[in-house]
Amino acid sequence: MSIVMKPKATKSQVDEVIQKIKSAGLKVDVSSGEYQTVIGIIGDEKKVDFDQIKSMTGVNDAIRIQSAYRLVSRGYIPKDVKVKVGNVTIGGDEPPVYISGPCSIESYEQLFRIAKQVKDAGAHILRGGAFKPRTSVHSFQGLGVEGLKYLKSVSKDLDMPTITEIRSEMDVETVAKYTDVLQIGARNMFNQDLIEAAAKTGKPIFFKRGFGSQIDEYLSFAERIVAKNNRKIILCERGILPLGGSFKPTTRFTLDLNAIPAIRKETPFPIFGDPSHGTGRRDLVLPMARAAIAAGAHGLMVEVHDRPQEALSDGPQAVLPEELKRIIKICDKIHKTIAESDSPFSKDVANGNGHS
Ligand code: PEP
Ligand code: MN
Repeated sequence: MSIVMKPKATKSQVDEVIQKIKSAGLKVDVSSGEYQTVIGIIGDEKKVDFDQIKSMTGVNDAIRIQSAYRLVSRGYIPKDVKVKVGNVTIGGDEPPVYISGPCSIESYEQLFRIAKQVKDAGAHILRGGAFKPRTSVHSFQGLGVEGLKYLKSVSKDLDMPTITEIRSEMDVETVAKYTDVLQIGARNMFNQDLIEAAAKTGKPIFFKRGFGSQIDEYLSFAERIVAKNNRKIILCERGILPLGGSFKPTTRFTLDLNAIPAIRKETPFPIFGDPSHGTGRRDLVLPMARAAIAAGAHGLMVEVHDRPQEALSDGPQAVLPEELKRIIKICDKIHKTIAESDSPFSKDVANGNGHS
């Protein structure tokens, strides 16, 4: 349920509603907008009397939102949410933001070299994994805290905000000290303790979709971030599992382009596309980057390596810095064309033109 207060509702009327909800053992999320305050309920709404709340003084309306996620829904927050990372603004009608860098931080020199090249190519935020989620225990697992130190130092040297993955709840405090954005990877999308611990740091969360998850499950887990009072969410479609059975997949994952406009319709938070993990193939990164932006993505995550054959992880999907430059140039043009031609994303899609 979301409770919309009257534009002139007083603070004590707002507090009374909050108290009423809290006395039923529920939590609230309060959104104080320019004109009115909206109160969201966290927990089992059946515990509060809908009609009673509706009749309280200062209340304009009480709306039931049926889905498993409410706080991240457009029903609760109708307008696009923008997320600031350093002086980069992400989401809404902002131009695309590019997050780029190597899959893994391998050494200070490697990170500095690649960071400089991706910055020159036009990337806004530097990525690099220090705690890598790997299928095999025999693969490179990342440099851990040593890698985080390199990330922080390169970030300072080049004046570039950074993002890195947190793999475990135990590392949240440490990782948060070294980076601007915390990434929760596809393998941890269902890890509620990790999500909540990360959200509590107050840092922006780059929250990747699990490769075996439905969109409503994905948004239900994103809901946990807002439920911990953190509205700095950046979503990311990074590919789902390709058809199984007797099909031999030609790509590592299938970038689910449907998810991009579908998610924009459901939620006001920014959504990125990741054509690197979504394809697993360097030769497909450019076309799928174009497609993701054309589908309405607010930005891209692209893995880059200047010596991909030497990369300690994900070499086959790393593009060269020159290729990143081309990707950014083309994607900016695509975004501009869409923005100029009356974007279908923030208007038609948000208004809901789907079939029922
Ligand atoms: C990554 O971004 O390095 C990564 C491991 O991504 P994903 O969680 O999408 O596999
Ligand atoms: Mn990777």
